[in-house]
Amino acid sequence: MSDTNLSAVLFKAKDLQLVERPICEPGKGEVQLCMQKVGICGSDVHYWQEGRIGDRFVVQAPMLLGHECSATVTKVGDGVTHPKSVTVWLSSPMACAGNAMHARLAATTCARMFSSWPRPLTVVPSPDTTCMERTSLPDNVSFEEGALIEPLSVGLHACRRARLSMGHRVLVCGAGPIGLCAMLSAKAFGAAAVCVTDIDSGRLEFAKKLGASHTLLIEKGQTEEQVAAKVAETLGAAPDRTIECSGAQFSVNLGVYATKPGGVFVIVGHGPSKVEFPVVSLVAKEIAILGSFRYINTWQTAIDMISCGKINVAPLVTHRFTLEDTLAAFETARSGVGVKVMIDCAKHEKK
Ligand code: NAD
Ligand code: ZN
Repeated sequence: MSDTNLSAVLFKAKDLQLVERPICEPGKGEVQLCMQKVGICGSDVHYWQEGRIGDRFVVQAPMLLGHECSATVTKVGDGVTHPKSVTVWLSSPMACAGNAMHARLAATTCARMFSSWPRPLTVVPSPDTTCMERTSLPDNVSFEEGALIEPLSVGLHACRRARLSMGHRVLVCGAGPIGLCAMLSAKAFGAAAVCVTDIDSGRLEFAKKLGASHTLLIEKGQTEEQVAAKVAETLGAAPDRTIECSGAQFSVNLGVYATKPGGVFVIVGHGPSKVEFPVVSLVAKEIAILGSFRYINTWQTAIDMISCGKINVAPLVTHRFTLEDTLAAFETARSGVGVKVMIDCAKHEKK
């Protein structure tokens, strides 16, 4: 167990500092966690660079970033009845913010939401016992994989929203971590073929290695209709399901043009707050457009799918840093090289 609580704190936009914070003893119903691995999400980079994500999430006080985490339980307070659980995941710091759908998870996600930035030790209210048990990581799931449960959950939830099932042809727009998790999930749901698009050929090569059956590079000058025709050619027919994970207006249009009549188009990406899309095409084809926001009831499924080997998220991690090198980790994430940047908090030693 570490005797330090080095923490990466965002004070305001572009002001991320490592500071030493006190170690708290867990009170009634709380657990003390020793953070292990924390992945950097695009939203962490946005908070760091802009101090906000849109108008809804604004940094108003020093903030601990990070929500893709794994940790070990180092101490438990009174009333925590599952002290044997040694590994937990932490959820998004804003998983419950204003979203009624997630209120059901409040007892569990809220419990974790105050505590999830990379720091070796932290105290959080313990989730209820059922949740503790359910969220323990099996021995064959690594801490890195544990930290990837969160983005995988976004992909799983999008597939569930799409009612994706065996034999579907699927288009995934965007080969970032979220698009890749959607692709992995779609395959696990039984998709017959998954075509991933991106404007970056490196990301498409990565997608192919990870298991995408097809990839399609979006090049300048192409229209959405032209790409939609290519998608159908590539997949052998228009996709039954499209999952938008790029945040690009182009992809929103592409989704409408590409998805087969009667198909489902799920939007995960956060692009501009308003986009234009071909509404007549949408109406005439009777396509259902659905939003997908984070996840609900995905954690155990994600853990089980990794544990049984049906989903392999481990290759998503391309860069690793220690907690002391948090700023370099954020710079790497911002530069867009690689895919998932992971911070190892447990290696931290007091200097
Ligand atoms: P990312 O930036 O790493 O990946 C986006 C990818 O889209 C990049 O590889 C980029 O090159 C590609 N892209 C850009 N323009 C494109 C185009 N015209 N066609 C195809 N690809 C294009 O981001 P990420 O972490 O993978 O997240 C993806 C999106 O999902 C972001 O908008 C993010 O904010 C959003 N997100 C949503 C949720 C949710 O719950 N709804 C959760 C997490 C992330
Ligand atoms: Zn995230």
